Amino acid sequence: MYDYDLLVVGSANADLVIGVERRPAAGETVLGSDLAVHPGGKGANQAVAAARLGARTALLARVGDDAYGRLLLDSQRAAGVDTVGVLVGGAPTGVALITVDPSGDNSIVVSPGANGRLTPQDVRTAASLFQASRVVSAQLEIPLETVEETVRSLAPGSRFVLNPSPPRPLPTSLLAACDPLIVNEHEAKVLLGDTTVGDDPAHWARLLLARGPRSVVVTLGAEGALVASAQGVTHVPAVPVDAVDTTGAGDAFTAALAWRLGQGDELADAAAFAARVGAVAVTRAGAQDSYPTAAEVAAPGS
Ligand code: ATP
Repeated sequence: MYDYDLLVVGSANADLVIGVERRPAAGETVLGSDLAVHPGGKGANQAVAAARLGARTALLARVGDDAYGRLLLDSQRAAGVDTVGVLVGGAPTGVALITVDPSGDNSIVVSPGANGRLTPQDVRTAASLFQASRVVSAQLEIPLETVEETVRSLAPGSRFVLNPSPPRPLPTSLLAACDPLIVNEHEAKVLLGDTTVGDDPAHWARLLLARGPRSVVVTLGAEGALVASAQGVTHVPAVPVDAVDTTGAGDAFTAALAWRLGQGDELADAAAFAARVGAVAVTRAGAQDSYPTAAEVAAPGS
């Protein structure tokens, strides 16, 4: 039997957010609001989202031996994530420096820091975690070779889910392991690498499927998602809500989908559940702070 429903292999960042009247131009200094520090990074977000839903979750990541690293470990543990796979040291914790203006537009500088030092050897050293995990999910905020080693480390019968964010062209061997590959509109277009792919997400889904994944999910924000497999393409509607903050909705969706697939759901059913999780997440501010429990998903708005 598996000890973990989901192993997330990915990034952990401290998000440092300052509100500004106007984002600075080159050479300019502007004064802003008090600094807000939030735990973030796609890997850390996915792990918290899954654990909050009740999934037995582990995170394989690297943080610095510093205050932000401790903040990230604390937030993972508070959500119930097993942090035995979170390595400490080698570089400062990854940081995203975010300025947000009153219209909500932001400018972001990311220092990958320790995320960039999560190596294929770190993956091999965590072999026992892989053997114990039913589903493994990854994103691309860590080195690509580390994600490729993740695929080589999967236990027989376990399932691999990839959200290729930030997007880049992917090797065929990695695409072939995805079940599903989960992309938003921007990621779909970058992966297809062709500006003439048109505006039909069902067409993107079919093109992506032809690149080798066993299944594909295209998330469409307030329009829901498309799921595509050898059985065809199905639209999964969004749950209508008044969105407050969409930050981290994609990470919550991916974590929920990965967990439900491991519990035996068909892809369209898992995506429908994930859409409900995403819908709750966008009604609340923040990323990890916005993620619901299973009970809250059962009764959205409560
Ligand atoms: P992000 O990068 O902001 O985390 P994303 O672009 O990867 O997000 P989205 O497509 O925006 O992912 O959102 C993921 C899922 O969350 C959607 O497929 C949908 O089910 C749900 N969702 C997102 N925005 C809304 C919304 N405004 N109303 C209802 N559901 C939403």
